[in-house]
Amino acid sequence: MQASGYCDKNKFDQIPEEWSDEKLDEKTMAPKISSWINEYFDSMKDIIGPALENDLIKICRHIAVHGSVPEYHSFEDRERYDLSKLARKFGGQTKPQQIYLLKSEYEKSGNLWKVFYKNFHMFINAFDLEFTRIILDEMGKSKNAGDLFHINEDNNKIDIELTEPEKEQIKKRDNYTCLCCFKSGKGNRMEIDHIVPVFQGGRADVENSQTLCRECNFQKGKNAINFRINSSPCINPKELYLYQVKGSESQIQTLIRTINMFYHCQAVSEIKYSLRRNGKNYSTWEVELYQGNNPEFLKNKKSELIKYVQEDLSCDHVKDVNIVSVQ
Ligand SMILES: [Zn+2]
Repeated sequence: MQASGYCDKNKFDQIPEEWSDEKLDEKTMAPKISSWINEYFDSMKDIIGPALENDLIKICRHIAVHGSVPEYHSFEDRERYDLSKLARKFGGQTKPQQIYLLKSEYEKSGNLWKVFYKNFHMFINAFDLEFTRIILDEMGKSKNAGDLFHINEDNNKIDIELTEPEKEQIKKRDNYTCLCCFKSGKGNRMEIDHIVPVFQGGRADVENSQTLCRECNFQKGKNAINFRINSSPCINPKELYLYQVKGSESQIQTLIRTINMFYHCQAVSEIKYSLRRNGKNYSTWEVELYQGNNPEFLKNKKSELIKYVQEDLSCDHVKDVNIVSVQ
């Protein structure tokens, strides 16, 4: 946030204490904020508008909560954090490499990415958006869009759409089942996803497509994740993203999504659980992973996983989760 470099004690005192209240309706701040804009800004020279009001509200809220001005970063500082440069540098790498490189960039000590992006997910999303923007720009400029996309030679159209028969062929091949969370059957709309997104050079064909439910497709986003394979491409997955139960899906389906997304493939062979008290696997669930998915990766997250099952998935009767490889 761009804050004025100085702020004297008197101005601190002008900020009412109730502005630190989390539930404060920001509209109540408006009169005071506009009186300060009149006092301290010049309508001839400064750009006055809702963006300025918003910035001032944020700064005042920060001061009210923390009792100090927000950290100041000069524009020179900010220039060193150019997402566009980063997108050009890492855009061509495979997704797992990108994630690895971006993670080290984000976590490098003393850098400001964390100031601009609250968490790694926001950072990587911004990176993906920026990369998409660059590709779209280049497409607009280039006469040879075919270098980036695959041109259908018959009618010279960019071939990014599958035909209806092709879509049906893919769903049939995948057994009308979401390859990420294993949902299927009536009431579950299945979508066709391009494993490697077209803008990353993936082809709009049957081979590069997979059946996913709406939620899994949404969560996969622009990531190149192949749920048709059962062996993880990750050298060392770090983030375990904990998905919440959506719609009428079961907690087990949600858990399968969480684990398959973690391994970046269809890693789960089966989750053994029992609905009945006294049943085997009632309080100790068993996650069976296909060969090629190191169980240690998930075991390292075990306490997080158990807490997730108990709290987010509302299965507080589960006391332990065993993670094993299929024999
Ligand atoms: Zn799904």
